[in-house]
Amino acid sequence: MKQITILGATGSIGRTCLQVIESQSEDFQVIGLSTHQRVALLYEQCLKFQPQVVCISGDNAPIEFFDKFKQLGIKVLLGKEGLIEISSNTQADILVNCLVGSSGLLPTLAAIEQKITIALANKETLVMAGEIVTSLAKKHGVTILPVDSEHSAIFQCIQGENWTEIHRLILTASGGPFQNYSADQLEKVTLEQALRHPRWFMGNKITIDSATLMNKGLEVIEAHWLFGVPVSQIEVIIHPESIIHSMVEFIDGAIKAQLGIPDMKIAMQYALTFPNRKYIQNERITFNLIKKLSFEQPDGRLFPACALAYESLKIGGTAPAVLNAANEEAVQRFLLKQIKFTTITRLVEKAVYAHQPVSQPDLSDILAADLWAREFIKEQINNDEVLTVTF
Ligand code: MG
Repeated sequence: MKQITILGATGSIGRTCLQVIESQSEDFQVIGLSTHQRVALLYEQCLKFQPQVVCISGDNAPIEFFDKFKQLGIKVLLGKEGLIEISSNTQADILVNCLVGSSGLLPTLAAIEQKITIALANKETLVMAGEIVTSLAKKHGVTILPVDSEHSAIFQCIQGENWTEIHRLILTASGGPFQNYSADQLEKVTLEQALRHPRWFMGNKITIDSATLMNKGLEVIEAHWLFGVPVSQIEVIIHPESIIHSMVEFIDGAIKAQLGIPDMKIAMQYALTFPNRKYIQNERITFNLIKKLSFEQPDGRLFPACALAYESLKIGGTAPAVLNAANEEAVQRFLLKQIKFTTITRLVEKAVYAHQPVSQPDLSDILAADLWAREFIKEQINNDEVLTVTF
């Protein structure tokens, strides 16, 4: 039986992980769960899964719950330090990191130090500090199992293959809700429209990232670090049906693709049961109902975020960490309705080019760049001018 710690258990992907564990309860035991703020839901999860320890990472954790957790015999940890402690629990066979944004980095590193296998749903960890994370994992012999559907697809395609024979990775993107919008329409996009993703049900941050196509840019960087493929050999193609989750082309021109219905349970379960598969009772593909699979080139003029992510990886050093932090901060402001949809990428672009990158950064350089980018975005937003800038 595998012992599992889940960070971000009350979010969309964390709940998917618990669904998988519930359906395979003979194989998995939950030993730790974290939430940022949804303490009531965490408590419900504890009644069902009975972990040994929980962490509430957000501020102002409601004290009235502490006794309730204690009555269940569950230890309560708090804050960022609590996340590190729960991630370092060496009883865990797998740490499933479903945190949102840069908060995922330090817990991932802490678990790798303890030689705990990582199931990574937090792509920002690799965007910020891919070199540091992957070299530490290599040093400790730790496997990083992708949970992101595209990376899970690639991981499934390369099983049994020689990684040096990969010629190209082709990441598919649904295109998000604004695929056929004009520049004028994009200027008027509302928060409610941006939160309505056509294919995947996900948390707010990733849904906005999908709408700007920044999500795909972050995934290009993630793929680069996970599979050690140069960025020049990673491509993005819009595939609105979201049936092909990604593809790998090998040096002989053969292409392998992984297909399935857009359901995160498949990628999550594969990470947990790897190298085996288990039955999932879910909807299956009926090809004659789908009829056709279509592909389009992404429109880099209307959706510059993906190209910007490529650019940050080419600049290298701390540039991807700045891209990531600036994006997190800008998306947060859009979610608060303080800036326009198109301003998100505009701000990130400004941050990436204003930053003085540090090459071969250590962890403190990365964290300093993250902080710098957040401050930069705050300053820009205080300057009204930026809000009227259009692409
Ligand atoms: Mg994805």
